[in-house]
Amino acid sequence: MSIAPQRQTLRFFGAGGAFSRRYGTTCSLLTLADGARWLIDCGRQAPDQIHAAGMRWHDFEGQIITHVHGDHVFGLEDFAFVRYFYSHGGVASTFESRRGPKLIAHSAVREEIWETLAPSLRYMRDERGAKVNATLATFFEVIDASAHEAPRANPWRHAEGFESGSLRITARESEHVPGKPSCSLEISISEDDDRIAWWSGDCTVDPDFLRAIEPRTSVFFHDSTFVDYPGQVHGFFALLERLPEAVRKKMVLMHHEDNIEEHRARVEAAGFRIALPGHVYDIVSGQRLA
Ligand SMILES: [Zn+2]
Ligand SMILES: [Zn+2]
Repeated sequence: MSIAPQRQTLRFFGAGGAFSRRYGTTCSLLTLADGARWLIDCGRQAPDQIHAAGMRWHDFEGQIITHVHGDHVFGLEDFAFVRYFYSHGGVASTFESRRGPKLIAHSAVREEIWETLAPSLRYMRDERGAKVNATLATFFEVIDASAHEAPRANPWRHAEGFESGSLRITARESEHVPGKPSCSLEISISEDDDRIAWWSGDCTVDPDFLRAIEPRTSVFFHDSTFVDYPGQVHGFFALLERLPEAVRKKMVLMHHEDNIEEHRARVEAAGFRIALPGHVYDIVSGQRLA
């Protein structure tokens, strides 16, 4: 029996930056052709964003994490505990089934995920009430990389590739906060070739890299800022604006500030689109569906 494949989509739950109150912190829903649903990042507002969208943690196959900042990971404790203790809609609790949601993150990021979650999650008890020293694997089915690229300037691998079911994704180190593990994501959109949808996570603008991958990229989702911070760690708009038109026309600005509407005319004149909560993109065509 074959099931007609559905569109591969990305839906924004939150589209705002780290300090956004209006657009919410980062959490998006990736839906694959076979219907598998994965979350990309899980910011501090994710539990409420998912509830507001009429969904539950049990609706997701797994979680992909780009890096450890509160606006990307502070919803994870809720995800871990709710799935561990509660069954819903035919999905058994992790406690009963010993099968938690899947987790994909670069190995260097994964260590930091546990550093931030451990004080909440490590004190567990088994059926007989005996103390258990829980680990990330108590709550999540942690997926190991199936391929990698050797380290460059940092001690961790430059890139790690992951496969799980129909998901094929590469987490590649990017420049966010110097010395901190943080990745962009290359999401495979075709079984037959190397075409991808690209997700920045949080990073500065890398014009050479973006130009190089443009021919095989359907859509770029890039974090953005209009504030010229000292020691910039995001996609500063004046630099994004200088990218080649072919890149700009495929780029959706996300993780933006609450005053983004003040910049809409300039942003759209340069060919960019602006992500807002609830927006849905077809990641194969790169076009917005809703
Ligand atoms: Zn962020
Ligand atoms: Zn960040």
